[in-house]
Amino acid sequence: MTSSRSRAFGGPFRYVQGPGELTNLAQHAADYGDRLFLLVDGFLMDSIRARFNDESAAMTWEKFSGECTEAEVGRVAALASEAKAQVIVGVGGGKTLDAAKLAAANLSLPLIIAPTSASTDAPTSAMSVLYKETGEHVRAVCLKHSAELVLVDSSIIAAAPLRLLVAGMGDALSTWFEARANAASDTANYIGRGYRRSLAAMAIAEKCYRTLLADGFTARLALENGAVTEAVENVIEANILLSGLGFENTGCAGAHAVHTGFHEIESAAGAYHGEIVAFGVLFQLMLENAPAVEVEEVLQFMYQVGLPMTMTDLNVEPTEENFQKIAGRILDGNSGVEAEPFLVTRDLVLGALKTADAMGRRFKSRAAKV
Ligand SMILES: [Zn+2]
Repeated sequence: MTSSRSRAFGGPFRYVQGPGELTNLAQHAADYGDRLFLLVDGFLMDSIRARFNDESAAMTWEKFSGECTEAEVGRVAALASEAKAQVIVGVGGGKTLDAAKLAAANLSLPLIIAPTSASTDAPTSAMSVLYKETGEHVRAVCLKHSAELVLVDSSIIAAAPLRLLVAGMGDALSTWFEARANAASDTANYIGRGYRRSLAAMAIAEKCYRTLLADGFTARLALENGAVTEAVENVIEANILLSGLGFENTGCAGAHAVHTGFHEIESAAGAYHGEIVAFGVLFQLMLENAPAVEVEEVLQFMYQVGLPMTMTDLNVEPTEENFQKIAGRILDGNSGVEAEPFLVTRDLVLGALKTADAMGRRFKSRAAKV
């Protein structure tokens, strides 16, 4: 339970989304400065750079090294400072954006975040994760504020592999259910030192879920056919803006606890964050004994958009040993499950994991026969 009666809401200063919007970067950045330092995912550098023929702003381009370490953040900050940058721009996936966030914070410079996929809701948040050179997680860093601008070019997002957008729907699927759990337990959100959630945050989290149900399947079909329709735009907004504002302003719970639990399982290393979180939603619904109608709605959605629904789908064998390992980590503290509004025991966690897996398997075999 929170120790304060106060509520708080935070987010990026501005959010712009549309096809081709990245090419208007200089125009967007002009509010903050003319000299831009762009940190870009290595494999995207040529295709991104090719979009800029008229460089009205002075742009310094740098490839991200591939891991968001203290050394990489220091290197980027030193180069940006040498280039006398006035604005830091991160273009790419999660780790590139995290490094850009930290470098901008180190230099106290305005930050523009331009995600190239909608696979998670991290672009809008004020959090970054630091890793060792070997890829092991070091710590999450909470920054003072989110980016000045989150600039989403929907034509770039639509051109990324479909699996990324589907994974992002898995991350976004958790937002409403976790918000609801945090509201029931009155747990602090991630704004500043943590406050109670606002009505705005709860409305955003619910809208996120409703948008996925309304547009998720159509968006998938559209992208499979190379079309960037309004449904695709809606899902991109749900995955990045609604989910991002939603989770940071309400909090995580059981679904993200499963993601933490999966850190213990090596064979799941190839699964994306949002894919594991989606299975985590099934776990949370089982843990909370959610109404059957709601469970059916979620299962139907996951099946239609192609999210993993079982342990096997995530390349994890449903053995007693694996269930025990995951449950052990979930109950180890700070996984998110503490935000559930009741006493969570080992038996409950194990039972919910096993039932979620069985539920996913049952739904898939039933759907395959229809
Ligand atoms: Zn997440």
